[in-house]
Amino acid sequence: MTKINTKEQIVKTFLALGTVNNIQIFNAKKEYAVEKAIDRVIELDDMLSAFKSDSEISRISRNSGIGFQKVHEDTYQLIRKAVLFSEISNGAFDITIRPLVKLWGINKKGDFVPFDFEIEETLELVNFNDIKFDSKTKSIALKKAGQSLDLGGIAKGFAADEVKRILKKEGIKSALINLGGNIVTIGKRPDGKPWQIGIQNPLAPTGEYLGVLTVTDKTIVTSGSNERFFIKDGVRYHHIIDPRTGKPSGSSLLSVTVICDCSADADALTTAIFILGMEKGLPLLKQCNAEAIFVNEDLTVCVTPGIMDKFEFKSMTQEVENEEQ
Ligand code: AMP
Ligand code: MG
Repeated sequence: MTKINTKEQIVKTFLALGTVNNIQIFNAKKEYAVEKAIDRVIELDDMLSAFKSDSEISRISRNSGIGFQKVHEDTYQLIRKAVLFSEISNGAFDITIRPLVKLWGINKKGDFVPFDFEIEETLELVNFNDIKFDSKTKSIALKKAGQSLDLGGIAKGFAADEVKRILKKEGIKSALINLGGNIVTIGKRPDGKPWQIGIQNPLAPTGEYLGVLTVTDKTIVTSGSNERFFIKDGVRYHHIIDPRTGKPSGSSLLSVTVICDCSADADALTTAIFILGMEKGLPLLKQCNAEAIFVNEDLTVCVTPGIMDKFEFKSMTQEVENEEQ
């Protein structure tokens, strides 16, 4: 879908990466730049999806326990980055999580809860140390048969970084990129003011905000247990799996939003910190030069010092001018 209005705003909405995406550029008659960025997102989806049998990720998974699979440089580097985040998060972020994601099938199998023995069996397949790299041939292998990869916790962030790179290269000075909630802002709003991003109340319908964040040239990414879940016997089962237990993370957080320069980093960080909790997450944020907004179970909000003056707590129904998270 394309919309062009008199204020020289081009808006395109498209489906990719299993979600709805939106790119808006301002004060530039460069529809081709947006098209180029969309083509790139679709290309990345084809390469990185765990659901497309021909993707590089699926080929690595099919070859598990057999041998190395040559991949594109971007896939190689993204998987390296994912493993780096596994290392710094003590294994909370782990892209070998796919067999468990498949077992649970959150939002695909109704309110199915696997037996403990099934979870334990499947956990044997989850270990980022089993991802093997051959830097000479840019090839990747999974050690054990049955292992498989899932880049769902980092791919949208990487794709958002790529959209930003392409738009900036084409001379775009003002843009708002939203890939399924992974937001990247370029420059300032067309009126010269900074962007205002609403931080969703995880327990309320979409569009009800806990506060508003004011930013320029930043990425804003959120992970939360409200994105995909079901409730059974009073327990909320959601899509972020703790590799230590094999179960949806029993996080003390309802959501965590990370603000930094690199959307792939922010994406991996939100998933990891959601599992680890605020206390263990703080050193990770520092290491990555990132800030965060934590929403605790009781809906209290904690903000890191670097963005304290950029986050304004709002009443839950306050309207936000530009974009929501
Ligand atoms: P996000 O919404 O960015 O937190 O990513 C959640 C998605 O990442 C899930 O839908 C899974 O595809 C995948 N995932 C779930 N648990 C993990 C984990 N512990 N480490 C890495 N990826 C995960
Ligand atoms: Mg993530």
